[in-house]
Parts: sequence; structure tokens; C-alpha cells
Amino acid sequence: MPPILLAVDKAYPKGLMWFRRDLRVDDNAALYHALRSCRQVLCVFVFDRAILDALPSADRRVEFIRESLVELDAELRTLGSGLIVRHAVAADEIAALAHALEVQAVFANRDDEPAALERDAKVFGALANAGVTYHTYKDQTIFERDEVLTKTGQSYTVFTPYKRAWLAKLEAFYLKPYPVRHYADALAPPPESHRAGVPTLKAIGFEKTNLAELEIPTGTQGGAALFDDFFQRIDRYDASRNFPAVRGPSYLSVHLRFGTVSIRQLAGVAHQLALQGDVGAATWLSELIWRDFYFQVLAFNPRIGEGKSFRPEYDKIIWHHGKHADGLFDAWCQGRTGYPLIDAAMAQINQTGYMHNRLRMVVASFLCKDLGLDWRRGEAYFALHLNDFELASNNGGWQWASSSGCDAQPYFRIFNPVTQSERFDPEGKFIRRYLPQISKLSNTSIHAPWNATPVELEAAGIVLGEGYPKPVVDHAEARERTLQRYGVVRSKATAAN
Ligand code: FAD
Repeated sequence: MPPILLAVDKAYPKGLMWFRRDLRVDDNAALYHALRSCRQVLCVFVFDRAILDALPSADRRVEFIRESLVELDAELRTLGSGLIVRHAVAADEIAALAHALEVQAVFANRDDEPAALERDAKVFGALANAGVTYHTYKDQTIFERDEVLTKTGQSYTVFTPYKRAWLAKLEAFYLKPYPVRHYADALAPPPESHRAGVPTLKAIGFEKTNLAELEIPTGTQGGAALFDDFFQRIDRYDASRNFPAVRGPSYLSVHLRFGTVSIRQLAGVAHQLALQGDVGAATWLSELIWRDFYFQVLAFNPRIGEGKSFRPEYDKIIWHHGKHADGLFDAWCQGRTGYPLIDAAMAQINQTGYMHNRLRMVVASFLCKDLGLDWRRGEAYFALHLNDFELASNNGGWQWASSSGCDAQPYFRIFNPVTQSERFDPEGKFIRRYLPQISKLSNTSIHAPWNATPVELEAAGIVLGEGYPKPVVDHAEARERTLQRYGVVRSKATAAN
């Protein structure tokens, strides 16, 4: 039975819940606090032109958000409310809306990406000038900012001790869902003038993508369906997660990105199973902890979001640049490097907006350690193309691969794209799915077509350099060049490892 709150106990007559990357009703921290603090709560989402205007006109993420908002709006309507949706610059719009709706407080869940913090500082200032209070809450991580620190009060720079401290701090309190529905009576319908509903993609300047064709499920129903599916195989996660041809991971990253699942629910289930000895669930929980770890790294080191290496000495590296380098970069982006696993992985991101974690590591390593290109170029490409793009994890992943990051791969560890392929796609199933033009090669040659005999190439209908490219670099030579290139950091890196 929820506690009975008298309307007079509430701090504000009217409040505004601002949804951002938390597109769900259930277990939503800010919504819960809004409902508990205000007699009436209105809900808004802003398609932020400060972000959207820089995107190409077809973007799966915008469509994912739009579809998820349709569900959220319907859900809010069943609770007697509904979503106000604006297409504007959020930093200006929220204060304007707060004024128009005559609210005394705005509630939102925290977003610690540097651009979001800057936006929120503006919103906070504008609201404060108008006498409106701005409340923010932790919602997208289990632990945020300075909640998990070393004994001397420093942020962690190595994952394993961070994870140990994270697990030691975890108690039921941090996993408990916010019982939003107990307080849903305070949800109020938007005034007539603000009831336009969720705009079409066209109305906000976007086109439909292949999201529906890919059957990427959206909204909280989509997130729940993916989790139900993953739950059946979570015990096998540690064994299956590295093989891109296998349905091993959860595919929940886009839902975590936009908050159509609750991190508390996911971590809670994984933690329970892990306590019962489920190795798959324990490994998966570790991945969720990596996510919190990278959020913390970014919160303590915002300069990494501005293109700086976590380890400053790595900014001395001189990357390959100029016309030839640009050509190599284009080949990487378009999946024309001549290394099948790299090209299939790039086809996956280009066609679907998703890339398997093993492949993210391999293509990132290939970009900086085989092609000698600045990891920031790859980071930016991923930022534009990944459905699940988030600054902290993307930057963390790229700086891990380039060895410049927090608890990163040592600079002298260089993935061999052929042996990675043989190990993690042994039968070439993944490669064949994305590179049908070389699908007739044997399970041996599919990893390195240039080693196939002329007879085999002919039988498979391949002319190297025509239907499928010759390798753009020789891995062994590239490896040597990389070791030289990283020479500028060698002394420090060796000392640190
Ligand atoms: P699962 O294996 O099911 O993992 C569950 C969840 O754990 C993921 O959804 C994610 O939230 C988290 N997670 C898993 N691995 C990592 C990791 N290494 N670091 C941080 N969190 C992790 N992840 C993103 O969410 N957004 C990004 O922009 C992103 N960019 C990356 C770039 C590079 C170069 C690399 C190497 C990794 C990147 N990752 C990123 C991490 C990881 O690849 C994805 O989270 C994962 O592939 C998403 O698929 P999934 O949901 O099926 O993962």
C-alpha cells in the first residue's frame, strides 16, 4: 500500500517532467520524484535542434526515439496524461515552456556528457532567473560520478579494482525500482494548446530508415522482449559473446542508451543469477559495470570528450595523414580494406547501426594500428553510425583499442585481423552474411582471400582487386610501422605496464 500523501504535503503545485534519455514510465527516478513532489505533473520531450540539425536526414536513432515516444505518449495517456513534444533548441525551450505552463519546478534525469551538462547549466540558469527550481536525479547508471572511489578518494583508473569496489558497495537499495505507478494520480493532461502529439519524422525534417525492416524493437515493449529473449541464454553469455555469427549478446545497448530499459532491473536480475553461480550472468554484469566505469572516467576526465587522450603522452603520436591516409580511411568506412572480417564488420554497422563488441575492438585496432590513422576519426564515424552511440563507452572503447585510454590494451598488443577472424568466425558464417561476393571461398581462404590459389579464386568467381579488394596494407609491415609510431610513448607506457 503506498503511503497516503496529502496534496498539501507536496512542495509544488505544478511540475514539469523533462524526458531525455529515459524514455519509460516505470522505474524512472525523475518521474517518481516529480510525482511525489508536485500536485500536478506535466511531461515533455524536446527533439533538440542543437543535436538534430547536425545529423543526416536519415538517422535510425531519431526514428528509434520517435517510435519509442509514440509508445511513451500512449502509456502516459492511459495514466491520464500525455506527452508534450517540441522540436526546438532544448536549452531555450524548457524555460519558455516552464513559463507558459506556469510550473514551479522541472525534473530530469542526469546526463553527464559534456554537451548535456552545458545545456543543463543553461537551462538551470534560465529557470533560476524565472524562479523555477530544477531537480536532477541519477537514473542511467547504478553508481555515478564520485559514488565509487578508491580509499584515498580518487577515481579508479583500472577496471578490476573498480569492479571489486562497485560490487562491494552494491546493496538492494541501489537496485530497488522506483514505484512510479503508485503516485501516477498526479499526472496531468497537457493543456489543449500543447496536445499536438508526437510529430512524424517528416515534420521534424527526417526520413524513414530501415529500422522496421531490421526488426529492431523500439520502446519499453521492445526492450522487454529483447531482455526476455536474452534471459533464456544469459547462462551461455560468457561462452557465446565473442562470436559475431552467434546470437550471444543481449542487443540491449540501444535501449540502455535511450532508457527504454531500466539499468536497475537489468543489473538486479544479473546480480541475483550471478550470486547463484551463473557464470554467464556474472560476465554480463561485468559488462554493465564497464559501462558505469566509463561513465565515471568521463565524469572525472571531461577532456577526453574533447578529443584528448586519457594518457596525455599519447597525444604526441603522429598519425598517418594526407591523401593516402584519407583513401585508407574511406576504404575502412566503406568496408573495402581487403580484410574480410574488417569489411564484414563495417558492412554490419553501415547496414544496421549495430556492431558486435568483438568486431568493434578488431576494427578499431585495425584503424589505428594497421592503417596508422588517428583513432578520433574512427570514434567520430562510430558516433555518427552506431544506434547505441554514447560518448563515454565509445570513447572508452576507442581509447582502449588505441592504447591511450584508461586501463587500455598495451600499445604493443596489436590484433591480427586474420587470426581474429579464424578464431571468432571459424566457419566464416558472419563474413558470408555480409560479404556474399566471397561466400564461395573455403573456410580457410575466407579469412585471407589473397592466400587462396588462383584455381580456388576462379572457382569462387572472384577476381581480387575487382569484385573484392586486395588488402590495403600488409599486416606484418603495418605492425612494425605501428611499433615505431608508438615509440614516442614507449618509455612511459612500458613503465606504466
Ligand atoms: P552485451 O554484450 O549484451 O552487453 C550488455 C551491455 O553492457 C551493453 O548493452 C552495454 O551497455 C554494456 N557494455 C558491454 N560491453 C561494454 C563495453 N566494452 N564498454 C561499455 N559498456 C559495455 N557501447 C555503447 O553502448 N555505445 C557505444 O558507443 C560503444 N562504442 C564502442 C566502441 C568501441 C571501439 C568498442 C570496442 C566498444 C564500444 N561499445 C559501445 C561497447 C560494446 O561494444 C557495446 O556496448 C556492445 O557491443 C553492445 O551490444 P549488446 O547490447 O548486445 O552488448
